[in-house]
Amino acid sequence: VTAAALPVGALEVPEPFAPRQQVLGVYCKNSHFNDPQATYCAICGIGMAQMTRVPVRGSRPQLGVVILDDGTMLPLVRDYVLGRAPNTAAAVASGQAAPVQLTDPLVSRVHARVVLQGWEVRLVDAGSTNGTYVCRPGTSSWWRLPPGGSLALRPGMAVAIGSRQLRYHSYRNR
Ligand SMILES: [Zn+2]
Repeated sequence: VTAAALPVGALEVPEPFAPRQQVLGVYCKNSHFNDPQATYCAICGIGMAQMTRVPVRGSRPQLGVVILDDGTMLPLVRDYVLGRAPNTAAAVASGQAAPVQLTDPLVSRVHARVVLQGWEVRLVDAGSTNGTYVCRPGTSSWWRLPPGGSLALRPGMAVAIGSRQLRYHSYRNR
């Protein structure tokens, strides 16, 4: 497991069907929109210390990408439902999340969700039978989320669902 922060925009995929959500953020001196908690601009790396920290509303930029073990890329501009039958999830039916079908007998019909919350990428176990596991960068041990539990993904974190794996790549180092 290697921590990975990709260059901004490296894997940016146009998503015409996902309207960008409005979030509170701050602009760096070069007018890049950032997480209010960022110490450095995620785009140009300039220090944010001298900036006024009054958050304003703006369109949330793509927070990174989740890459599946088969190379499928999920641009983090929207929520996702992962499972054997993700279309049965209410969030998919309502258009709030995109379905990601994982064909594996150990994967539940609706197994887990990736949810964007403000500037955070959260992994949520959807009460799966066989569990959702995460491996922190720099470690080799897998940790099971409590059923229905969630956690904020960190750059380079790997996720195991049944025999499938995915990894979160952030455009932001934090
Ligand atoms: Zn900047």
